[in-house]
Amino acid sequence: MDLRLVPYRPVHSLSEKRLIFYCLFFSAFLCFLLADVYGAESTCYGTTSKGSLEHGVQLPGEGENFVAYSSFAITIGRTYVHTKVRDIIVDAYETLEKDMPVKVFKYGETGLKEGRRFRPHKTHQNGLSVDFIVPVMDRNGRSVHLPTNVFNKFGYSVEFDETGKYGDFRIDFEALAGHIYALHNAAQEHGVRIKRIIFDPKLQPSLFKTEYGPYVKDNIKFSRKRSWVRHDEHYHVDFEIPCK
Ligand SMILES: [Zn+2]
Repeated sequence: MDLRLVPYRPVHSLSEKRLIFYCLFFSAFLCFLLADVYGAESTCYGTTSKGSLEHGVQLPGEGENFVAYSSFAITIGRTYVHTKVRDIIVDAYETLEKDMPVKVFKYGETGLKEGRRFRPHKTHQNGLSVDFIVPVMDRNGRSVHLPTNVFNKFGYSVEFDETGKYGDFRIDFEALAGHIYALHNAAQEHGVRIKRIIFDPKLQPSLFKTEYGPYVKDNIKFSRKRSWVRHDEHYHVDFEIPCK
């Protein structure tokens, strides 16, 4: 048996070590860059009526039970929000998939990537304001999307009567209250409060009569006066997140 020791030879030569070092360094740098671009938390500045947003993110264009009000609006960058707002909205829709599986939802205008003035809105400036198009039912009581297109100003020129009817559509107050309830719960899980919801005061009694109505009435601050535009075809939600 040959008992001579095998001469020591380093596993990696100097150039191999250097190569490994560069690979590791480059991977770490790439991860850092990707995290910066895709994973950064947003920062909001100022207020919803005078503010801006850093690292704003776009809401997903659609999901199992929701869609955006306009693919054109997505393209021109009108659906950006704070990362926490996005997470709350997506979580709420996921909850509704289980709790209200036959209902469908639609969101409206949110804001620009870097916030600031968002015409024609008076707020929506720092990623914390979101408009949701009212969930509606057709004449057969089926949950459907309110049509939103260039001919009805992407839904914003639709006028519901005081009972919540518009042509063959009527506001689905049960789904509306369920959505607000889900948003409130999702916000709490993310340590965020809902600052206020603006919705036509004349339609609010119908909302409060629903299954989730009493909870919604007790836990959410609703607008009491008519605002600068009638909020009948959409409800405006402001989230409360500390801003710089
Ligand atoms: Zn709004």
